[in-house]
Amino acid sequence: MATRSKDLRQRVLQAAEAVLDRDGSVGPLELLQQMRLLEPVHVQGWRKGNKYYTPLEPSIQCGPKKLNDTYRYFHDWIEERGLQPLEASYVRSGLKGNEELQVTQDADPEREAFFRTHYAPAGLSQRKAKQLEKKLSKAPDLVVYQLVSKSATCSECEAELWKGELLYMEKGQPLCLSCADMDHLEFLPSGDATLTRRARKHSPLSAIVVRFARARKRYERQGILVTHDAIAQAEADCLNDADQRAARREQDVQRRRREDHKLVEEMTKAILAEYPNCPATEARGIAEHTAQRGSGRVGRSAAGRELDPNALDLAVGAWIRHNHTKYDTLLMQGTDRRMARRMVRDQIGEVLSKWSGA
Ligand SMILES: [Zn+2]
Repeated sequence: MATRSKDLRQRVLQAAEAVLDRDGSVGPLELLQQMRLLEPVHVQGWRKGNKYYTPLEPSIQCGPKKLNDTYRYFHDWIEERGLQPLEASYVRSGLKGNEELQVTQDADPEREAFFRTHYAPAGLSQRKAKQLEKKLSKAPDLVVYQLVSKSATCSECEAELWKGELLYMEKGQPLCLSCADMDHLEFLPSGDATLTRRARKHSPLSAIVVRFARARKRYERQGILVTHDAIAQAEADCLNDADQRAARREQDVQRRRREDHKLVEEMTKAILAEYPNCPATEARGIAEHTAQRGSGRVGRSAAGRELDPNALDLAVGAWIRHNHTKYDTLLMQGTDRRMARRMVRDQIGEVLSKWSGA
């Protein structure tokens, strides 16, 4: 029994530290999810107002004794760490404004407050603490689904909804946009991030439109729904500072070019330091190739950009394989990749030792 309670304490501390590290704060619901005593999908359902998960408390998969111990260890840890409480709230933006979400079955104010309270490192500036509280209390975005194949029926007016049409889920039930009071909104497709951000800011009501991509098995964002005025205002904003934004983009391009140039210079030097007999043009070729932006090559990895010798060796090895051996020809002839690598291994070794002067 003693070891079991020690194990639980250990689990609580590990989970609490992990959440604090990840989110910058931790509350009971986040702790329980991290410990897998509460399923994140249940919490997501609850946050969307799905009645099956409301109130949330019965979804906690844990006996009363263990749960009590968990909270006790959690609060001991909070005291030891000297964390400061933050008052968050769990709200959902619904059609009639924001709605407080209930955790406990009895809606006891004290226990509700217990679940709402998050803990963050002490000594946060007042501004930082306010920011964190605001972030914790933010209602999740409203989401509207674009029907992919099956038709659906509005749970209020019973209108049929077809493929391509939009529906809103209210407490687990589909609603057409008229019944959801969103039919005055206009669709703004994704693509222009600045326009999207500004339109959302200007729109008193907005929703994200997603569609299920079967191939990737996930919902993908298609655009947003916002008021007509919000789009017009956002477009005017964008027109007003288009020149400024273009200039800033051009500056960014120039800066990245300078950074890339510097990286290639440094990498060439580092390669030549390790392989003094490597022809300078080849050293530069290797550096340019591996450091190419967007290539995903080793030169763009963190290790590559820090000129880590192992990363440089990989880049040099790959270069030799493609430029000083028959490797590419072997692949073209249909030789198995692993076999081809084995066949050219000695040749690569020879070039490497020649270049390193060993
Ligand atoms: Zn309807």
